[in-house]
Amino acid sequence: MSDQIRSVCVYCASSMQADPSYRESARQLGFVLGSAGISIVFGGGRDGSMGALADGALDAGGNVIGVLPNFMHDVEPGHPNITELKLVDSMHERKLAMIENVDAAIALPGGCGTFEELLEAITWKRLGLFLKPIVIMNFNRYYDPLIKMLDVSIEQKFMDKRHSRMWSVVEKTEEVIDAISNAPKWDASARSFAAI
Ligand code: AMP
Repeated sequence: MSDQIRSVCVYCASSMQADPSYRESARQLGFVLGSAGISIVFGGGRDGSMGALADGALDAGGNVIGVLPNFMHDVEPGHPNITELKLVDSMHERKLAMIENVDAAIALPGGCGTFEELLEAITWKRLGLFLKPIVIMNFNRYYDPLIKMLDVSIEQKFMDKRHSRMWSVVEKTEEVIDAISNAPKWDASARSFAAI
């Protein structure tokens, strides 16, 4: 199945202080994707889970594209060894460049930057602007409270039951590719129930 998945966008953390197991799981995911010949588009950072993800993919001979806004590049270097580092003018441009041509979006544990990227992808999918699988990597059950919040928003009718098909949740890196392949189909007709 993985031959149909050419590239994925991975949202993940910049933190170097989170437990090292988070970086290790990012590195493993990079390795799994790189070994499957799946290109990675990510935030371009050298540190934290971002850097570990890229290192894992590069170790597997994978293709890794970073998208870094100029203002960040001025204060910190992008990852030095990736296949391509794209410099863009703003965070908005970056998020569009990260998601526009990929076959799926994956969120690893992270902070507010990762949350907003994940929630933007879900929002765009609800509106029929992004139609691809979204996988939440719930390593260490980190995302349980956010998944609960999404469920509560459905219970309280801020979203429709059908919206829960927009994301899949896995706990292990080895499950990510299957979750992408088996994600419920989603098309632009979703716009008809975007507002409930
Ligand atoms: P966070 O999860 O809050 O660490 O935010 C990580 C996300 O925000 C990444 O996916 C990046 O898009 C962006 N980001 C935050 N900090 C950095 C950084 N130091 N270098 C590159 N991207 C960053």
